[in-house]
Amino acid sequence: MNILGIDFEEWYHPELVKPHIKNIKRNPSVINGIDKILDLLRKHETLATFFVVGELLEIKPDIFDKIIENGHEIGFHTMHHDRLDLPGFEKKFSFEVKEFAKLTNHKSQGFRAPTFSLNNTSSWAIDVLEENNYMYDSSVVPAKTSLYGLPNAEHKPYKITSNSIEKNDSSGKLIEFPLLVTTFLGKKIPAGGGFYLRTLPMKVIKNAFKNYQNKNMPGCFYIHSWELTPEFMPKLDLSFKDKFATYHNLGKAYSRMSELLKSFKFTSFSRYITENNMIK
Ligand SMILES: [Zn+2]
Repeated sequence: MNILGIDFEEWYHPELVKPHIKNIKRNPSVINGIDKILDLLRKHETLATFFVVGELLEIKPDIFDKIIENGHEIGFHTMHHDRLDLPGFEKKFSFEVKEFAKLTNHKSQGFRAPTFSLNNTSSWAIDVLEENNYMYDSSVVPAKTSLYGLPNAEHKPYKITSNSIEKNDSSGKLIEFPLLVTTFLGKKIPAGGGFYLRTLPMKVIKNAFKNYQNKNMPGCFYIHSWELTPEFMPKLDLSFKDKFATYHNLGKAYSRMSELLKSFKFTSFSRYITENNMIK
């Protein structure tokens, strides 16, 4: 069994887009794609966790109802999609967790850091999540990329603490679910997400899932809402590199995701935890 997390955010949230929108009006449009995403999951009888940027629930509160009514899980992706390691964010974060709890009827038990920004300067976040009775985190990519990555981190789920974000610490309360990685051309690379789905050959991603399956480990996969509904995603004029990372092959993500959902079984994080008796 594998785990699917949908990072539910707007066109103006991705890290590489943010610097370019200072003078552009932020009209939300990607949120209107939620029904299409729910239909896709329903068609494949798949449950998923939606890591929602909190401010979107203030704009369109029925997102919450739609996620829950369909049996999916709601998780936290900060209120405004800020990196955890932004100077001074620590104080704000405790407040944001409580704000999100109010918006979601205290249903959120899982967290994903924007741009996988959980690292040694932001590991305080684990303490805050513990204090707020969170059950798990999924913000670790155990491979190095230009934007993020903790290449020495474990590949299978482990107990995480603020002093030990890469290795199992049996005193930890939170379970960390690292994202799927694989070896490609002799190098360890991430394979568990939308960007990799758009840029790597399908065979590489499928083999990564099969390898995890053989080791009896869940393949944790992320996809952004806007990757599944590119018709609601206005495209900005970014630098060549940033444009590639954000928009390359955007039109192919939906069909490739469908293929993965057809080939492998996925569920939500909370369902995976319950079904595997991970909380005792
Ligand atoms: Zn995000």
